[in-house]
Amino acid sequence: MTVRADAVTSELRLLVAGCVTEQSYPDLLPLMRRARAMAQFRITIDLSGADHIDSTGLLLLRKDTDRLEDELLIEPVELVVPDRLPSCLAVTPVEEGDRP
Ligand SMILES: [Zn+2]
Repeated sequence: MTVRADAVTSELRLLVAGCVTEQSYPDLLPLMRRARAMAQFRITIDLSGADHIDSTGLLLLRKDTDRLEDELLIEPVELVVPDRLPSCLAVTPVEEGDRP
């Protein structure tokens, strides 16, 4: 997972690429803390460019952002999540495959 931080006026966008999983999502938390330390940034976590979003990782990320909102007294963090969670695993979804 890689994260590019893009600060525009009072908004910090975290553009996430790669794999967002149960193992990797905690990397986002210190970035949120740092954003809070820098200024009163509104934080957006943009997962639309990720190659892989693990549903458990996403669930835990939502939980932890909620917790950090309370802890850091920040405005609600906006999560941009694609409608369909992408996966980097080479799995062909049967329901979408064109069956013979
Ligand atoms: Zn992956």
